[in-house]
Amino acid sequence: MDHVVVVGAGLAGVRSIEALRFRGFTGRITLIGEENHRPYDRPPLSKAVLLGETDSTVVDSDLDALDVRLCLGTAAKGLREGVLETTEGELEYDGLVIATGAAPIRLRGEGRQHVLRTIEDALALRERLVPGARVAVVGAGWIGAEVATAAARAGCAVTVVEAGESPLAVALGPEVGSHTTGWYARAGVELRLGALVGSVDPDGLTLMSGARVPADVVVTGVGVRPAVDWLKGSAVRVDDGVVVDEHLRTSLPNVVAVGDCASWWSRRFRTRLRVEHWDTALQAPDVAAATLLGEEAVYDPVPYFWSEQFGHMVQFAGHREAGDRMVLRGDPRRDPKWAVCWLKADDRLAAVLTVDRPRDVVQGRKIIESGRRLDPLRVGDSARPLRDC
Ligand code: FAD
Repeated sequence: MDHVVVVGAGLAGVRSIEALRFRGFTGRITLIGEENHRPYDRPPLSKAVLLGETDSTVVDSDLDALDVRLCLGTAAKGLREGVLETTEGELEYDGLVIATGAAPIRLRGEGRQHVLRTIEDALALRERLVPGARVAVVGAGWIGAEVATAAARAGCAVTVVEAGESPLAVALGPEVGSHTTGWYARAGVELRLGALVGSVDPDGLTLMSGARVPADVVVTGVGVRPAVDWLKGSAVRVDDGVVVDEHLRTSLPNVVAVGDCASWWSRRFRTRLRVEHWDTALQAPDVAAATLLGEEAVYDPVPYFWSEQFGHMVQFAGHREAGDRMVLRGDPRRDPKWAVCWLKADDRLAAVLTVDRPRDVVQGRKIIESGRRLDPLRVGDSARPLRDC
């Protein structure tokens, strides 16, 4: 293999290059990135950048030392075996890494709506978070909650409009999500649940009910879609992201996919997973690089992510499914620090969510990895370390 092309200059792209070199690949590497920036981290965009604590989140990686040909401001347009089509012409490859991430969903309407995916998005939004500004955030998911946190801290009058019956209902289920409702009120943020947005207008939102939410600034945080449109018509199978096996191989030879855009087969959870979180973009590339280089490697992580909202560190590890039994550790109505464990029918731990209880998530992740069974009664005792349950 002489030439590897990496498409997508985000975290998963740059980690793929590091992994290829670490594993001894000495051939040519070309990195194609649509944005005009060297790879940067996105989690701080909705945290430190919005809060005005930093302007740059460039990934600490020496691309010059890694001997990479960097093609920024260049987008991939199509793919056939051995040839990548880009906005700057065609490029032949022996191995290809697809790491094009995801793009935010926008709502209907003529009004200006901010989304939060790029550094430009974050800087443009930050400029508008001024004291007294009426900010409407659509979506009480991870991004919506973090934007609301930053906007409230900047002195804005914040309304969060959420279609579900609680914040984080899609990610965690309404029961667990409802335990975060009080955080909004305490931060002075108005939370409107069960409210569907019809359109974004120049002066705010119109809800499907006809009600209006006047706003100077509208931020849409209703999720992302994998950025894989450019693969239409290629032999790469796409179904809610690039379909890859447990080695992160796509349906086209010598092509692997990683990060937000990849939907991999999880041996551990016996299902397909597409995880839009930083840790996946960080870890999966090592397996993808090994696979490209003909080594035997399997990607089978316990997914992990974190969110910082309303002064709380929220962490999650594992994969929960309908039917898993929930066991609370601590009482969210009284204890500021609490956790939820999801147990399988045979009492194996499937997932753990923690609020300001970092030990639980570290121990929970190890327990999930080991497949050990827990005693549900002990799990419910929040004074007992999870590893002793
Ligand atoms: P990306 O970072 O999206 O990088 C993909 C790159 O590919 C982009 O630069 C894109 O422009 C480029 N690209 C797309 N299409 C093409 C094309 N056709 N040709 C060339 N280039 C292309 N995760 C957590 O775990 N915790 C958090 O607290 C957290 N906070 C976040 C906050 C924000 C605001 C955002 C946006 C994400 C957050 N995440 C968080 C998620 C995490 O940042 C992502 O999972 C991670 O960035 C995924 O990396 P990636 O390299 O797969 O994709």
